[in-house]
Amino acid sequence: MLNDIACGLALEYTSCEIEGAGGSNRRSGANEEALRYFEILDDAQTELYPGCKDFSKLSFIVELLHLKALNQWSDTSFDMLLQLLHQVLPSGAKLAESYYQARKLTKNLGFTYETLDACPYNCMLFRNENAHLDTCIVCQTSRWKEYGVGYNRQSSLQVLSIVAKVWQQSK
Ligand SMILES: [Zn+2]
Repeated sequence: MLNDIACGLALEYTSCEIEGAGGSNRRSGANEEALRYFEILDDAQTELYPGCKDFSKLSFIVELLHLKALNQWSDTSFDMLLQLLHQVLPSGAKLAESYYQARKLTKNLGFTYETLDACPYNCMLFRNENAHLDTCIVCQTSRWKEYGVGYNRQSSLQVLSIVAKVWQQSK
């Protein structure tokens, strides 16, 4: 999919060849936006460590940032986790050294850390024109928990999957 996106972007610019990951020739002529997608493409195709088949450099840091956002880990605790992971992972692991680096990696994806309320059943997000609502417009479930304290907050990473789900339902 990322290849498709990169191809689409590259079509707008001359001498921008796409022949898989790596190589510098393919990047000549691409503008800043296209270059960002090439970086994403590279990160998505780079193994977290040599031989790792379950996570790429990008997918692992996205997973970690997702957990950080959902559990409201502090930046400092995230840095500490990364330091520990560096001791555990094989040498040559492509893992960010700090939260700051991790954010730089995912910045190209346009992720932010806005926290949003969502329907407990993930039908919708309480944002924009729905920001003031108390119940879900799809299933009428209350925005507020009947028990305990707090809302069904979603990180923006999880929001992507909810948006995709809502979009699918609307088709
Ligand atoms: Zn709902």
